[in-house]
Amino acid sequence: MTNRGNSEELGGSDIGKMIVTFKRIADNPLARSILHRTLHYCEKDESTQLESALKFYLGKTDDACYSCRRMSKLIGFIIRKGATSFGTSEKELKEAMDDDYWIRGLVSVLKGIALFGVKEPFIPGAPFQIVWNITQKCNMQCIHCYENAGKATGKELSSKEIINGLNRMGNVGVASIAFSGGEPSIHPQILDFIQCTNDHGMFPAMATNGYTLADKKRAQKFNNAGLGFVQISLDGLDPVTHDSFRGINGAWEKAVQAIKNFVDAGIFVEVATTVTEHNLDEIPEMIDFIRDLGVNWFMLYNFIPTGKGSGIKNMDLSPHERSELLKTAYLENNNSDMQILSTAPQYATVAKSMVSPDSTMIPTHFYNPEYSNPALLQLADFIGGCGAGRFYMSIEPNGDLYPCVFFPHKDDVKLGNLIEDDFEDIWTHNSLLKSIRNKEILKGHCGRCESHNICGGCRARAYNYFGDILAPDPGCVKNQEEWEKVKNKILMEGYQEFRMKNPILSSHN
Ligand code: SF4
Ligand code: SF4
Repeated sequence: MTNRGNSEELGGSDIGKMIVTFKRIADNPLARSILHRTLHYCEKDESTQLESALKFYLGKTDDACYSCRRMSKLIGFIIRKGATSFGTSEKELKEAMDDDYWIRGLVSVLKGIALFGVKEPFIPGAPFQIVWNITQKCNMQCIHCYENAGKATGKELSSKEIINGLNRMGNVGVASIAFSGGEPSIHPQILDFIQCTNDHGMFPAMATNGYTLADKKRAQKFNNAGLGFVQISLDGLDPVTHDSFRGINGAWEKAVQAIKNFVDAGIFVEVATTVTEHNLDEIPEMIDFIRDLGVNWFMLYNFIPTGKGSGIKNMDLSPHERSELLKTAYLENNNSDMQILSTAPQYATVAKSMVSPDSTMIPTHFYNPEYSNPALLQLADFIGGCGAGRFYMSIEPNGDLYPCVFFPHKDDVKLGNLIEDDFEDIWTHNSLLKSIRNKEILKGHCGRCESHNICGGCRARAYNYFGDILAPDPGCVKNQEEWEKVKNKILMEGYQEFRMKNPILSSHN
């Protein structure tokens, strides 16, 4: 699979509102210490004490143990204080928490406050979303695939290990699992994994090429299993563009049929397009085409030169082209209900530069909500830009953990392994995660940029181009100098490849 699913289904602005709501109370050391005491796992209630106490306070369960019931009074006090300081009532806050995923998000926010304090950008108590590449096997041969997918080249976790892993992710407080790969829909146990994700109170999403899901009956099975969000890749408006990227004739028709099937089934549908020089010209017309299909989100994926994608660096957009693309997306967003979003964190800076000074919009790279409460102005800085190792993490088919799916499988960016290591210990103490979350230590213009909180550059692009997670992101107009270096290197690599393929010709140079 080339792209990943997205946890903003949980509501980026909702997460931000929770953070702002509890900021003042969480700055209080006593409240933090109370929250800290609730982070342990309660065997009787089979969840953290925080989650159990919160659910009891909200009236979601009347079956909490004595200790969790007692703690629910203190949690209720924190919620009431948070609501008052935010100018809202306890009743309004309780109503917002009617949704189970919202509760899970709130638990993660409170746990993050207990563990890390209120940082800009915010670090939750567990990743909101895990992108889980459950297999390297794929029915396509995409030239931009981050996973080098096709055949499985190493040991992959068994279905039992994946089910156990889902159980663990549920217990640590992950809010959403996005199944990806390879192609997740061809895994024989995928429907069980989706069901299991739901059973553990997490939101199931899937990123697919759509090939097997053009079959309406098969798509319906995913709906029945409880899939809440599907992302289907489409690389162009022209079937030839898509099929040549994917290496399979007829792939475009199947992907479009799969989109229609999921729209008809009422599942939240995102179409994902990795934008390169190959398809840039087709994007404006694609917007109309995808909108007419009734899709919820159109996600413009940033090209990242990793996996097979490292072989097509020469197709990367220039900073100027990326910036113009994001401006088009921003302007088009006003035309319909379909949201056009981007994984390029620079989208937040583009939105900020285009909005009028008296606007009430909060610029983030995946959502630009209007606000009515001035306290929400701080929201963008809390939500932040690049979410690697903060809002997201990824799991490889063998259980290896990385900050984001777009990091290469190298030891210096590997965080550990799902089976061999303690996930919570990694989340709380891993030094690479601490560095990647700290926007103050970024290098080059990213470090001194006024947008380093709301953007911060794509850390995977920085690493893949410069071998340094803190390097400037060469995809930004403010890092033009770095882009020139990258471009020269690409040209040089192309020249050397030409010399190797044509030794006689090049010996005359
Ligand atoms: S490194 Fe950050 S910006 Fe880049 S793809 Fe991953 S989460 Fe997104
Ligand atoms: S310089 Fe870095 S942080 Fe600033 S807008 Fe560009 S990519 Fe984002």
